[in-house]
Order: sequence, then structure tokens, then C-alpha cells
Amino acid sequence: MAPKNQPLSGNDLARFSGPNTFMRLPFANELQKLDVAVLGVPMDIGTSWRSGTRFGPKQVRSESAMIRPYNLQTGAAPFDSLQVADIGDLAINTFSLSDSLRIIAESYGAILNYDAVPLAIGGDHSITLPILRAIAKRHGPVALIHVDAHADVNDEMFGERETHGTVFRRAYEEELIQPSKVYQVGLRGTGYTAEDFTEAQGWGFQQFPAHELWGRDLSQLGAEIRRDIGNLPTYVTYDIDSLDPAYAPGTGTPEIGGLTTPQAMQLIRAFKGLNIVGCDLVEVSPPYDTSGNTALTGANILYELLCILPGVTFR
Ligand code: MN
Ligand code: MN
Repeated sequence: MAPKNQPLSGNDLARFSGPNTFMRLPFANELQKLDVAVLGVPMDIGTSWRSGTRFGPKQVRSESAMIRPYNLQTGAAPFDSLQVADIGDLAINTFSLSDSLRIIAESYGAILNYDAVPLAIGGDHSITLPILRAIAKRHGPVALIHVDAHADVNDEMFGERETHGTVFRRAYEEELIQPSKVYQVGLRGTGYTAEDFTEAQGWGFQQFPAHELWGRDLSQLGAEIRRDIGNLPTYVTYDIDSLDPAYAPGTGTPEIGGLTTPQAMQLIRAFKGLNIVGCDLVEVSPPYDTSGNTALTGANILYELLCILPGVTFR
């Protein structure tokens, strides 16, 4: 078997040089032989408060240069068995949200034809609706793990039905997801009404508010979700604002009282064994954290997700 793509080692080429691909992996134009395709969706025109996520893919890739291939804690060696490459950014139309969403769905249709698992770097959360449209076309309605401070189930915002705050109501209405297999973890913050988030429980969504998770090890919750999902095709969407702003200040709509970085790792690691068909990491807004730490955390969350994909070897 031909050796798989490997991230450039920091011992072969200084970490601060080389290509700005995810983990300095090879860039690929061809998707034929890929198991995992990392891509950027540099967009922030679906956001309602601070902008800046158009710079997310660039800075997440830049910070990912620090990540080494072997996961010392879990034993995962994703590059032993999976062919992974960075396929660059989608050519969104920064002057039109609706056109951008159309472009994302079409691009994903093409990617999914090759059976590669897409790992997307956002972008604001509006990118997940067209992604789910393409995923559902390919796999049928999926189980959804949605880690976020917000439920993103508004009906509309300023009359617009496709924004970063309406994604999962649309996904529910369009039957892109299995409502009883939707898990929203980390919800918190203030609302306009008491039912802002909880209406979705009536559709079957299972919600795990942040305050019920404070101080807890999330391995057990992750394991319960994994058991409940079983073998269903599963999509994971990770909004960086699920983390407390102390850990991830560089985001568009921060909410205090969030999850910790170790909790994020406990949760993701417990999902090992799920039939994951795609993931995204959204809402990293570099201008609001010039230290790069939010992007660094986002890059590591993507890496942890890569480490639990089907087919990963453990040493
Ligand atoms: Mn969100
Ligand atoms: Mn959010």
C-alpha cells in the first residue's frame, strides 16, 4: 500500500514556513483517492453581530502548523490509515449570501461523489445549512451533534430565512436531519422569549445546556450520545462559541459561562466509533483574537475530530 499523505514535520521544515494548508498537509486538486478532504469556507456575511470569520480558514490553517501527527493521549494515528489532503477554499460569492449557500451545496455535492469525508473550516454557521443539504442528498437525514452556545433555531432574522441563527430550524423543516437524533450541547445566554431554544425540544432535539455541564467530565455525556446514535450516519458541527470566551474570545457572538477546552476534548474523544460522514468547525473570527489562540483551539478541535473518524488506526 502506498504511504499516505503526511503533514510536513517541524523537524524537516521549520514550522513557520511551508504551505498554509491544514497541518501543512499536501494540497490536492483531485479527490479520487482521498478519505478526508479538509476545506475552507471563508465567509462571514451570514452573521448577526461581529464579523471576521471570513479570515477563519486562513488563521486556523496557520495555527494548525503546530499540531503533530500522533495523538499522544488517545493513541490515534490518523495519517497511518487515512489519505487526508487540504483541497483549498470554496469560491464563495462574498457579495451574496444566497449565492454563497448555493455554491457551498453544489461544491459539497461534488466532494461527496468521491466518498471523501469533508472537514470544513468556517466561516460563520450559515455554511452548515447547504452542507447538510448536500449531506442529506448523499446519506439521507443524518444524526446531528451540534456543539454551540446557541441553538440556531430562529425562524428568521430581519426577514431572512437563511442566516447563521436559523440553520437548524431549516434543517429540521427540510428533513435533512433526524430530529430525535439531534444533540445540542453547550446552550446558554440570554433570550428574547423563554422558548427561544426549547421549542426545538418539541421537534425531538435533545438539548444539554452549558450550566448543567459546568464542572463535569463530558466523557459520559459523549458516550451516551454515541450509544443513542448507534450506526446512523452522523454529522458533527462545532461552533467555537460553545467554549467560554476565556478560551475562545475570537468569535462573532460570545456568551459567558461556556464549556472549557478540556470538556470539548472529552466530548469529542467519546464520539470515537460513530459513523461520522462530515464535520465543520465554525465561527472563528481572527480579528477578535489577534493572539491566535481561538484559531489554535479551533485547529486542535478539527484535529481531534479527524482522530475519531471511521478507519483511523490507533497505536
Ligand atoms: Mn452557531
Ligand atoms: Mn453560536
